[in-house]
Amino acid sequence: MSAPIGFTFDNSFVRDLDGLYEAWTATTASAPELVVLNDELACELGADPGALRSPAGVDVLVGNAVPEGAEPVAQAYAGHQFGGYSPRLGDGRALLLGEVVDVDGARRDLHLKGSGRTPFARSGDGLAVLGPMLREFLMCEAMHALRIPTTRGLAVLATGDTVLRETLQPGAVFVRVASSHLRVGTFQYASSLDDPSVLARLLDYTIARHAPAVARSEAPALAFLEQVVDAQASLVAKWMLVGFIHGVMNTDNVTISGETIDYGPCAFMDTYDPATVFSSIDHGGRYAFGSQPKITVWNLARLAEPLLPFIDPDRDRAIERATTVLEAFPGRFLARWTEGAAAKLGLSAIPVDDVNLAEDFLGLLQQAGADFTLSFRSLASALRGDEAQLRALLDSAAGFDAWVRRWRSAGPSDADAMDSVNPLYIPRNHLVDEALRAATEGDLEPFSTLFNVLQSPFVERSSCDRFALPAPDEFACGFRTYCGT
Ligand code: AMP
Ligand code: MG
Repeated sequence: MSAPIGFTFDNSFVRDLDGLYEAWTATTASAPELVVLNDELACELGADPGALRSPAGVDVLVGNAVPEGAEPVAQAYAGHQFGGYSPRLGDGRALLLGEVVDVDGARRDLHLKGSGRTPFARSGDGLAVLGPMLREFLMCEAMHALRIPTTRGLAVLATGDTVLRETLQPGAVFVRVASSHLRVGTFQYASSLDDPSVLARLLDYTIARHAPAVARSEAPALAFLEQVVDAQASLVAKWMLVGFIHGVMNTDNVTISGETIDYGPCAFMDTYDPATVFSSIDHGGRYAFGSQPKITVWNLARLAEPLLPFIDPDRDRAIERATTVLEAFPGRFLARWTEGAAAKLGLSAIPVDDVNLAEDFLGLLQQAGADFTLSFRSLASALRGDEAQLRALLDSAAGFDAWVRRWRSAGPSDADAMDSVNPLYIPRNHLVDEALRAATEGDLEPFSTLFNVLQSPFVERSSCDRFALPAPDEFACGFRTYCGT
Protein backbone atom coordinates (compact mmCIF):
# COMPACT_ATOMS: atom_id res chain seq x y z
CA MET A 1 0.00 0.00 0.00
CA SER A 2 1.40 3.41 -0.94
CA ALA A 3 2.06 6.20 1.58
CA PRO A 4 -0.79 8.69 2.06
CA ILE A 5 -0.27 11.92 0.12
CA GLY A 6 -1.44 14.11 2.98
CA PHE A 7 -3.84 16.59 1.38
CA THR A 8 -6.73 17.60 3.66
CA PHE A 9 -9.66 18.77 1.54
CA ASP A 10 -12.50 21.06 2.52
CA ASN A 11 -14.43 22.07 -0.59
CA SER A 12 -16.32 25.23 0.31
CA PHE A 13 -16.83 26.38 -3.30
CA VAL A 14 -18.66 23.18 -4.19
CA ARG A 15 -20.59 23.26 -0.93
CA ASP A 16 -21.77 26.87 -1.18
CA LEU A 17 -21.88 27.82 -4.84
CA ASP A 18 -23.90 25.39 -6.91
CA GLY A 19 -24.84 27.13 -10.13
CA LEU A 20 -21.21 28.19 -10.63
CA TYR A 21 -19.66 24.86 -11.58
CA GLU A 22 -20.16 21.49 -13.25
CA ALA A 23 -18.95 18.37 -11.46
CA TRP A 24 -16.46 16.76 -13.82
CA THR A 25 -13.42 14.49 -13.96
CA ALA A 26 -10.22 14.61 -15.93
CA THR A 27 -9.56 12.75 -19.16
CA THR A 28 -7.30 9.77 -18.48
CA ALA A 29 -3.65 10.38 -19.30
CA SER A 30 -2.21 7.28 -20.98
CA ALA A 31 1.30 7.27 -19.51
CA PRO A 32 1.72 10.05 -16.96
CA GLU A 33 5.15 11.10 -15.78
CA LEU A 34 6.13 13.75 -13.30
CA VAL A 35 8.32 16.38 -14.97
CA VAL A 36 8.76 18.81 -12.08
CA LEU A 37 7.48 18.95 -8.53
CA ASN A 38 7.71 21.90 -6.17
CA ASP A 39 8.71 20.08 -2.97
CA GLU A 40 8.57 23.17 -0.78
CA LEU A 41 5.03 24.02 -1.87
CA ALA A 42 3.98 20.37 -1.52
CA CYS A 43 5.13 20.48 2.11
CA GLU A 44 3.27 23.77 2.70
CA LEU A 45 0.15 21.97 1.50
CA GLY A 46 0.74 19.20 4.02
CA ALA A 47 1.65 16.70 1.32
CA ASP A 48 4.53 14.25 1.31
CA PRO A 49 6.68 14.95 -1.79
CA GLY A 50 7.80 11.31 -1.81
CA ALA A 51 4.20 10.13 -1.96
CA LEU A 52 3.47 12.62 -4.76
CA ARG A 53 6.36 11.14 -6.75
CA SER A 54 4.97 7.60 -6.39
CA PRO A 55 2.73 6.19 -9.14
CA ALA A 56 -0.34 6.82 -6.94
CA GLY A 57 0.75 10.44 -6.38
CA VAL A 58 1.39 10.98 -10.09
CA ASP A 59 -2.10 9.62 -10.85
CA VAL A 60 -3.60 12.19 -8.50
CA LEU A 61 -1.55 15.08 -9.91
CA VAL A 62 -2.37 14.26 -13.52
CA GLY A 63 -6.08 13.75 -12.78
CA ASN A 64 -6.22 9.97 -13.33
CA ALA A 65 -7.25 9.35 -9.72
CA VAL A 66 -9.46 11.48 -7.49
CA PRO A 67 -7.90 11.61 -4.03
CA GLU A 68 -10.06 11.08 -0.97
CA GLY A 69 -11.92 14.27 -0.10
CA ALA A 70 -11.52 15.92 -3.52
CA GLU A 71 -14.61 16.89 -5.55
CA PRO A 72 -13.39 17.97 -8.99
CA VAL A 73 -15.41 20.61 -10.80
CA ALA A 74 -15.07 22.86 -13.81
CA GLN A 75 -15.77 26.43 -12.68
CA ALA A 76 -18.04 28.75 -14.62
CA TYR A 77 -17.10 32.32 -15.43
CA ALA A 78 -17.62 34.93 -18.09
CA GLY A 79 -15.23 37.61 -19.22
CA HIS A 80 -14.40 40.56 -21.38
CA GLN A 81 -11.72 39.38 -23.77
CA PHE A 82 -9.91 42.32 -25.40
CA GLY A 83 -12.97 44.41 -24.55
CA GLY A 84 -15.59 42.07 -26.08
CA TYR A 85 -17.92 40.24 -23.70
CA SER A 86 -18.06 36.41 -23.68
CA PRO A 87 -20.97 35.35 -21.46
CA ARG A 88 -19.75 31.80 -20.89
CA LEU A 89 -16.06 30.98 -20.71
CA GLY A 90 -15.32 28.79 -17.69
CA ASP A 91 -12.70 26.10 -17.18
CA GLY A 92 -12.56 24.67 -20.69
CA ARG A 93 -9.42 22.66 -20.02
CA ALA A 94 -9.07 22.84 -16.27
CA LEU A 95 -10.56 21.50 -13.06
CA LEU A 96 -10.68 22.65 -9.49
CA LEU A 97 -9.72 19.40 -7.77
CA GLY A 98 -10.65 20.75 -4.37
CA GLU A 99 -9.53 23.12 -1.61
CA VAL A 100 -6.63 21.98 0.52
CA VAL A 101 -6.27 23.30 4.04
CA ASP A 102 -2.53 23.93 4.26
CA VAL A 103 -0.21 23.50 7.24
CA ASP A 104 -0.97 27.07 8.38
CA GLY A 105 -4.71 26.46 8.15
CA ALA A 106 -5.06 28.53 4.96
CA ARG A 107 -7.48 27.42 2.25
CA ARG A 108 -5.69 26.85 -1.11
CA ASP A 109 -7.30 25.79 -4.39
CA LEU A 110 -5.69 22.78 -6.06
CA HIS A 111 -6.28 23.08 -9.77
CA LEU A 112 -5.38 21.06 -12.87
CA LYS A 113 -4.82 22.76 -16.23
CA GLY A 114 -4.74 20.67 -19.40
CA SER A 115 -6.83 17.86 -17.92
CA GLY A 116 -9.23 17.39 -20.83
CA ARG A 117 -12.41 18.83 -22.29
CA THR A 118 -15.13 20.03 -19.92
CA PRO A 119 -18.67 21.34 -20.52
CA PHE A 120 -17.00 24.76 -21.01
CA ALA A 121 -14.53 23.62 -23.68
CA ARG A 122 -16.42 25.17 -26.62
CA SER A 123 -14.26 24.38 -29.69
CA GLY A 124 -11.08 23.74 -27.67
CA ASP A 125 -9.47 20.33 -27.25
CA GLY A 126 -9.22 20.69 -23.47
CA LEU A 127 -5.51 20.00 -23.55
CA ALA A 128 -2.22 21.72 -22.89
CA VAL A 129 1.32 21.05 -24.03
CA LEU A 130 4.57 20.69 -22.17
CA GLY A 131 6.47 23.85 -23.17
CA PRO A 132 3.74 26.34 -22.16
CA MET A 133 2.93 24.47 -18.92
CA LEU A 134 6.59 24.49 -17.90
CA ARG A 135 6.61 28.16 -18.83
CA GLU A 136 3.69 28.89 -16.48
CA PHE A 137 5.41 26.92 -13.70
CA LEU A 138 8.66 28.82 -14.17
CA MET A 139 7.08 32.28 -14.51
CA CYS A 140 4.76 32.03 -11.52
CA GLU A 141 7.47 30.68 -9.25
CA ALA A 142 9.82 33.45 -10.44
CA MET A 143 7.11 35.99 -9.57
CA HIS A 144 6.75 34.44 -6.13
CA ALA A 145 10.51 34.74 -5.59
CA LEU A 146 10.19 38.41 -6.61
CA ARG A 147 7.62 38.76 -3.78
CA ILE A 148 4.74 39.42 -6.15
CA PRO A 149 1.36 37.88 -5.25
CA THR A 150 0.72 35.01 -7.62
CA THR A 151 -0.88 31.67 -8.16
CA ARG A 152 1.75 28.99 -7.57
CA GLY A 153 3.12 26.03 -9.45
CA LEU A 154 2.99 22.67 -7.69
CA ALA A 155 3.87 20.37 -10.56
CA VAL A 156 4.01 19.74 -14.28
CA LEU A 157 3.28 16.28 -15.64
CA ALA A 158 3.64 14.83 -19.11
CA THR A 159 0.48 12.92 -19.99
CA GLY A 160 2.13 10.51 -22.44
CA ASP A 161 -0.32 11.66 -25.13
CA THR A 162 0.39 13.89 -28.09
CA VAL A 163 -1.50 17.09 -28.74
CA LEU A 164 -1.90 18.83 -32.05
CA ARG A 165 -0.87 22.47 -32.12
CA GLU A 166 1.08 23.79 -35.10
CA THR A 167 2.95 20.50 -34.80
CA LEU A 168 2.35 17.42 -32.66
CA GLN A 169 3.55 18.15 -29.15
CA PRO A 170 3.80 16.29 -25.85
CA GLY A 171 0.65 16.76 -23.74
CA ALA A 172 0.98 18.08 -20.19
CA VAL A 173 -0.94 18.99 -17.07
CA PHE A 174 0.02 21.93 -14.86
CA VAL A 175 -0.99 21.69 -11.21
CA ARG A 176 -1.74 25.15 -9.89
CA VAL A 177 -2.30 26.38 -6.35
CA ALA A 178 -4.19 29.61 -5.66
CA SER A 179 -5.74 31.34 -2.69
CA SER A 180 -8.86 31.02 -4.87
CA HIS A 181 -9.89 31.04 -8.52
CA LEU A 182 -12.58 33.68 -7.98
CA ARG A 183 -12.29 36.21 -10.77
CA VAL A 184 -13.97 39.38 -11.94
CA GLY A 185 -15.47 37.07 -14.58
CA THR A 186 -17.02 34.87 -11.87
CA PHE A 187 -19.12 37.86 -10.75
CA GLN A 188 -19.98 38.74 -14.34
CA TYR A 189 -21.20 35.18 -14.95
CA ALA A 190 -23.21 35.00 -11.71
CA SER A 191 -24.92 38.32 -12.47
CA SER A 192 -26.13 37.00 -15.83
CA LEU A 193 -28.03 34.05 -14.31
CA ASP A 194 -31.81 34.03 -13.97
CA ASP A 195 -31.52 33.08 -10.32
CA PRO A 196 -30.40 36.25 -8.47
CA SER A 197 -29.56 34.25 -5.34
CA VAL A 198 -26.37 32.90 -6.97
CA LEU A 199 -24.78 36.33 -7.16
CA ALA A 200 -25.82 37.09 -3.58
CA ARG A 201 -24.30 33.80 -2.40
CA LEU A 202 -21.13 34.45 -4.39
CA LEU A 203 -20.71 37.85 -2.79
CA ASP A 204 -21.22 36.48 0.74
CA TYR A 205 -18.87 33.58 0.01
CA THR A 206 -16.15 35.81 -1.42
CA ILE A 207 -16.35 38.27 1.45
CA ALA A 208 -16.09 35.42 3.96
CA ARG A 209 -13.13 33.92 2.10
CA HIS A 210 -11.13 37.00 1.13
CA ALA A 211 -12.43 40.01 3.02
CA PRO A 212 -13.98 38.88 6.31
CA ALA A 213 -13.31 42.26 7.95
CA VAL A 214 -15.60 44.11 5.51
CA ALA A 215 -18.65 42.11 6.62
CA ARG A 216 -18.94 44.45 9.61
CA SER A 217 -18.73 47.67 7.58
CA GLU A 218 -21.73 49.91 6.85
CA ALA A 219 -21.78 48.87 3.14
CA PRO A 220 -19.97 45.51 2.85
CA ALA A 221 -20.23 45.29 -0.96
CA LEU A 222 -18.66 48.73 -1.33
CA ALA A 223 -15.92 47.95 1.19
CA PHE A 224 -15.31 44.68 -0.67
CA LEU A 225 -14.92 46.56 -3.97
CA GLU A 226 -12.52 48.92 -2.22
CA GLN A 227 -10.43 46.00 -0.98
CA VAL A 228 -10.19 44.49 -4.47
CA VAL A 229 -9.28 47.90 -5.92
CA ASP A 230 -6.53 48.18 -3.33
CA ALA A 231 -5.22 44.65 -3.94
CA GLN A 232 -5.12 45.20 -7.70
CA ALA A 233 -3.48 48.63 -7.37
CA SER A 234 -0.78 47.09 -5.24
CA LEU A 235 -0.35 44.12 -7.59
CA VAL A 236 -0.07 46.15 -10.77
CA ALA A 237 2.38 48.54 -9.09
CA LYS A 238 4.56 45.52 -8.32
CA TRP A 239 4.36 44.35 -11.93
CA MET A 240 5.36 47.82 -13.16
CA LEU A 241 8.34 47.92 -10.79
CA VAL A 242 9.88 44.76 -12.28
CA GLY A 243 8.91 45.25 -15.93
CA PHE A 244 6.31 42.47 -16.02
CA ILE A 245 3.78 42.46 -18.86
CA HIS A 246 0.81 40.19 -18.20
CA GLY A 247 -0.28 40.18 -21.82
CA VAL A 248 -3.91 39.05 -21.50
CA MET A 249 -5.64 41.16 -18.86
CA ASN A 250 -9.12 39.97 -19.74
CA THR A 251 -11.62 40.14 -16.87
CA ASP A 252 -11.56 36.34 -16.53
CA ASN A 253 -7.84 36.64 -15.77
CA VAL A 254 -8.24 39.17 -12.93
CA THR A 255 -8.43 37.58 -9.51
CA ILE A 256 -10.39 38.86 -6.55
CA SER A 257 -7.52 37.83 -4.24
CA GLY A 258 -5.01 40.11 -5.99
CA GLU A 259 -2.86 37.21 -7.18
CA THR A 260 -1.39 37.21 -10.68
CA ILE A 261 -3.07 34.46 -12.71
CA ASP A 262 -2.80 32.97 -16.18
CA TYR A 263 0.71 33.11 -17.52
CA GLY A 264 -0.02 32.47 -21.21
CA PRO A 265 1.51 35.34 -23.15
CA CYS A 266 3.25 37.19 -20.29
CA ALA A 267 6.88 38.28 -20.51
CA PHE A 268 9.37 40.57 -18.84
CA MET A 269 10.42 43.69 -20.68
CA ASP A 270 14.04 43.96 -21.79
CA THR A 271 14.72 47.53 -22.91
CA TYR A 272 12.39 50.05 -21.32
CA ASP A 273 9.51 51.20 -23.48
CA PRO A 274 5.99 51.62 -22.08
CA ALA A 275 4.55 50.62 -25.47
CA THR A 276 6.07 47.15 -25.25
CA VAL A 277 3.75 44.31 -26.26
CA PHE A 278 4.82 40.71 -26.73
CA SER A 279 1.52 38.90 -27.28
CA SER A 280 0.98 37.81 -30.88
CA ILE A 281 -2.74 38.62 -30.70
CA ASP A 282 -2.56 42.01 -28.98
CA HIS A 283 -2.51 43.96 -32.24
CA GLY A 284 -3.86 47.19 -30.78
CA GLY A 285 -1.48 47.17 -27.82
CA ARG A 286 -4.46 47.08 -25.40
CA TYR A 287 -2.34 45.28 -22.81
CA ALA A 288 0.97 47.11 -23.44
CA PHE A 289 3.27 47.54 -20.43
CA GLY A 290 2.34 51.18 -19.82
CA SER A 291 -1.40 50.54 -20.22
CA GLN A 292 -1.67 48.01 -17.41
CA PRO A 293 -2.86 50.42 -14.66
CA LYS A 294 -5.61 51.96 -16.79
CA ILE A 295 -6.77 48.55 -18.05
CA THR A 296 -7.01 47.39 -14.45
CA VAL A 297 -9.41 50.22 -13.62
CA TRP A 298 -11.52 49.26 -16.62
CA ASN A 299 -11.55 45.64 -15.42
CA LEU A 300 -12.49 46.72 -11.89
CA ALA A 301 -15.40 48.73 -13.28
CA ARG A 302 -16.66 45.41 -14.71
CA LEU A 303 -16.58 44.03 -11.15
CA ALA A 304 -18.40 47.10 -9.81
CA GLU A 305 -21.35 46.65 -12.20
CA PRO A 306 -22.73 43.40 -10.73
CA LEU A 307 -22.11 44.76 -7.21
CA LEU A 308 -24.28 47.87 -7.70
CA PRO A 309 -27.55 46.40 -6.32
CA PHE A 310 -25.68 45.39 -3.16
CA ILE A 311 -23.99 48.76 -2.75
CA ASP A 312 -27.15 50.84 -2.57
CA PRO A 313 -30.80 50.15 -3.49
CA ASP A 314 -30.84 53.52 -5.27
CA ARG A 315 -28.98 52.83 -8.52
CA ASP A 316 -27.75 56.39 -9.06
CA ARG A 317 -26.45 56.50 -5.52
CA ALA A 318 -24.79 53.09 -5.98
CA ILE A 319 -23.07 54.27 -9.15
CA GLU A 320 -21.88 57.40 -7.41
CA ARG A 321 -20.43 55.42 -4.50
CA ALA A 322 -18.78 52.79 -6.73
CA THR A 323 -17.35 55.51 -8.96
CA THR A 324 -15.74 57.21 -5.98
CA VAL A 325 -14.03 53.92 -5.08
CA LEU A 326 -12.88 53.30 -8.68
CA GLU A 327 -11.62 56.85 -8.98
CA ALA A 328 -9.34 56.20 -6.02
CA PHE A 329 -7.43 53.59 -8.08
CA PRO A 330 -4.93 55.95 -9.80
CA GLY A 331 -3.98 57.54 -6.48
CA ARG A 332 -3.60 54.18 -4.76
CA PHE A 333 -1.58 52.79 -7.65
CA LEU A 334 0.68 55.84 -7.76
CA ALA A 335 1.27 55.74 -3.99
CA ARG A 336 2.34 52.06 -4.20
CA TRP A 337 4.45 52.61 -7.28
CA THR A 338 6.15 55.70 -5.85
CA GLU A 339 6.93 53.89 -2.60
CA GLY A 340 8.48 51.00 -4.57
CA ALA A 341 10.32 53.31 -6.98
CA ALA A 342 11.84 55.25 -4.06
CA ALA A 343 13.16 51.99 -2.59
CA LYS A 344 14.61 51.03 -5.97
CA LEU A 345 16.47 54.36 -6.00
CA GLY A 346 17.74 53.80 -2.46
CA LEU A 347 15.54 56.51 -0.95
CA SER A 348 13.09 56.37 1.92
CA ALA A 349 10.77 58.59 -0.15
CA ILE A 350 10.82 60.58 -3.38
CA PRO A 351 11.94 64.12 -2.40
CA VAL A 352 9.08 66.63 -2.24
CA ASP A 353 11.17 69.15 -4.18
CA ASP A 354 11.96 66.64 -6.96
CA VAL A 355 8.77 64.63 -7.42
CA ASN A 356 9.64 63.45 -10.95
CA LEU A 357 12.96 61.88 -10.01
CA ALA A 358 11.83 58.28 -10.65
CA GLU A 359 9.80 59.03 -13.80
CA ASP A 360 12.76 60.99 -15.19
CA PHE A 361 15.01 57.97 -14.66
CA LEU A 362 12.56 55.96 -16.79
CA GLY A 363 12.75 58.74 -19.37
CA LEU A 364 16.53 58.23 -19.55
CA LEU A 365 16.07 54.47 -19.94
CA GLN A 366 13.65 54.97 -22.79
CA GLN A 367 15.87 57.48 -24.57
CA ALA A 368 18.90 55.23 -24.27
CA GLY A 369 16.97 52.04 -25.06
CA ALA A 370 18.50 50.66 -21.86
CA ASP A 371 17.77 47.36 -20.17
CA PHE A 372 15.16 47.97 -17.45
CA THR A 373 16.42 45.41 -14.93
CA LEU A 374 20.14 46.11 -15.28
CA SER A 375 19.70 49.88 -15.17
CA PHE A 376 18.02 49.77 -11.77
CA ARG A 377 20.48 47.19 -10.48
CA SER A 378 23.47 49.30 -11.57
CA LEU A 379 22.36 52.18 -9.32
CA ALA A 380 23.61 50.29 -6.26
CA SER A 381 27.02 49.76 -7.89
CA ALA A 382 27.13 53.50 -8.61
CA LEU A 383 26.37 54.17 -4.97
CA ARG A 384 29.22 51.86 -4.00
CA GLY A 385 31.53 54.01 -6.17
CA ASP A 386 31.47 52.13 -9.47
CA GLU A 387 29.49 54.18 -11.97
CA ALA A 388 30.80 52.34 -15.04
CA GLN A 389 27.81 50.09 -15.69
CA LEU A 390 25.24 52.84 -15.13
CA ARG A 391 27.18 55.12 -17.43
CA ALA A 392 27.56 52.43 -20.10
CA LEU A 393 23.81 51.84 -20.05
CA LEU A 394 22.58 55.42 -19.90
CA ASP A 395 25.07 58.13 -20.68
CA SER A 396 23.88 58.38 -24.27
CA ALA A 397 20.67 59.88 -22.88
CA ALA A 398 20.52 63.67 -22.73
CA GLY A 399 20.37 64.78 -19.12
CA PHE A 400 22.10 61.72 -17.66
CA ASP A 401 24.70 63.62 -15.63
CA ALA A 402 22.13 66.10 -14.39
CA TRP A 403 19.88 63.24 -13.30
CA VAL A 404 22.71 61.54 -11.40
CA ARG A 405 23.40 64.81 -9.57
CA ARG A 406 19.70 65.11 -8.63
CA TRP A 407 19.65 61.50 -7.46
CA ARG A 408 22.77 61.89 -5.35
CA SER A 409 21.48 65.06 -3.77
CA ALA A 410 18.28 63.18 -2.78
CA GLY A 411 20.57 61.15 -0.50
CA PRO A 412 20.42 57.51 -1.65
CA SER A 413 21.86 55.19 0.96
CA ASP A 414 22.29 51.49 1.63
CA ALA A 415 23.28 49.81 -1.61
CA ASP A 416 22.52 46.40 -0.05
CA ALA A 417 18.91 47.44 0.57
CA MET A 418 18.71 48.54 -3.08
CA ASP A 419 19.97 45.13 -4.19
CA SER A 420 17.21 43.54 -2.14
CA VAL A 421 14.53 45.28 -4.25
CA ASN A 422 16.22 45.49 -7.67
CA PRO A 423 16.41 41.94 -9.03
CA LEU A 424 19.46 40.84 -10.97
CA TYR A 425 17.91 37.66 -12.38
CA ILE A 426 14.51 37.73 -14.06
CA PRO A 427 13.02 35.21 -16.51
CA ARG A 428 14.50 36.85 -19.56
CA ASN A 429 12.75 35.81 -22.74
CA HIS A 430 15.82 34.36 -24.44
CA LEU A 431 16.70 32.28 -21.37
CA VAL A 432 13.15 30.99 -20.94
CA ASP A 433 12.99 30.09 -24.62
CA GLU A 434 16.30 28.28 -24.51
CA ALA A 435 15.29 26.29 -21.40
CA LEU A 436 11.89 25.33 -22.79
CA ARG A 437 13.30 24.29 -26.13
CA ALA A 438 15.72 21.90 -24.41
CA ALA A 439 12.98 20.61 -22.07
CA THR A 440 10.63 19.74 -24.91
CA GLU A 441 13.51 17.84 -26.53
CA GLY A 442 13.93 15.85 -23.32
CA ASP A 443 16.78 17.76 -21.66
CA LEU A 444 15.52 19.28 -18.40
CA GLU A 445 18.91 20.46 -17.17
CA PRO A 446 18.73 24.05 -18.56
CA PHE A 447 15.18 24.39 -17.17
CA SER A 448 16.23 23.24 -13.69
CA THR A 449 19.26 25.50 -13.73
CA LEU A 450 17.20 28.54 -14.75
CA PHE A 451 14.51 27.68 -12.20
CA ASN A 452 17.14 27.55 -9.45
CA VAL A 453 18.72 30.85 -10.50
CA LEU A 454 15.30 32.54 -10.44
CA GLN A 455 14.58 31.32 -6.93
CA SER A 456 17.05 33.92 -5.58
CA PRO A 457 16.59 36.86 -7.93
CA PHE A 458 18.26 39.44 -5.71
CA VAL A 459 21.46 37.61 -4.71
CA GLU A 460 24.41 37.93 -7.08
CA ARG A 461 26.32 34.72 -7.80
CA SER A 462 29.44 34.78 -9.95
CA SER A 463 28.49 31.44 -11.52
CA CYS A 464 25.25 33.00 -12.82
CA ASP A 465 26.69 35.91 -14.82
CA ARG A 466 25.10 34.92 -18.09
CA PHE A 467 21.62 34.89 -16.52
CA ALA A 468 21.93 38.60 -15.77
CA LEU A 469 22.77 39.64 -19.31
CA PRO A 470 20.30 41.18 -21.76
CA ALA A 471 19.17 39.22 -24.79
CA PRO A 472 21.37 39.30 -27.86
CA ASP A 473 20.01 41.98 -30.24
CA GLU A 474 18.83 39.51 -32.85
CA PHE A 475 16.63 37.84 -30.21
CA ALA A 476 15.25 40.95 -28.60
CA CYS A 477 13.49 42.38 -31.61
CA GLY A 478 10.44 40.51 -32.80
CA PHE A 479 10.05 38.26 -29.74
CA ARG A 480 6.44 36.99 -29.55
CA THR A 481 4.34 35.17 -26.96
CA TYR A 482 1.16 33.17 -27.45
CA CYS A 483 -2.23 32.57 -25.78
CA GLY A 484 -4.23 29.36 -25.57
CA THR A 485 -1.22 27.11 -25.81
P1 AMP B 1 -7.07 31.85 -21.40
O1 AMP B 1 -6.71 32.58 -22.64
O2 AMP B 1 -6.11 30.75 -21.04
O3 AMP B 1 -7.38 32.74 -20.25
O4 AMP B 1 -8.42 31.05 -21.73
C1 AMP B 1 -9.62 31.68 -22.11
C2 AMP B 1 -10.72 30.67 -22.17
O5 AMP B 1 -10.45 29.67 -23.16
C3 AMP B 1 -10.95 29.89 -20.89
O6 AMP B 1 -12.33 29.67 -20.78
C4 AMP B 1 -10.20 28.59 -21.12
O7 AMP B 1 -10.70 27.53 -20.35
C5 AMP B 1 -10.46 28.38 -22.60
N1 AMP B 1 -9.43 27.54 -23.25
C6 AMP B 1 -8.16 27.91 -23.56
N2 AMP B 1 -7.53 26.90 -24.19
C7 AMP B 1 -8.41 25.86 -24.28
C8 AMP B 1 -8.36 24.53 -24.83
N3 AMP B 1 -7.27 24.05 -25.41
N4 AMP B 1 -9.47 23.77 -24.71
C9 AMP B 1 -10.59 24.24 -24.12
N5 AMP B 1 -10.70 25.47 -23.61
C10 AMP B 1 -9.63 26.28 -23.68
MG1 MG C 1 -7.70 32.44 -18.27
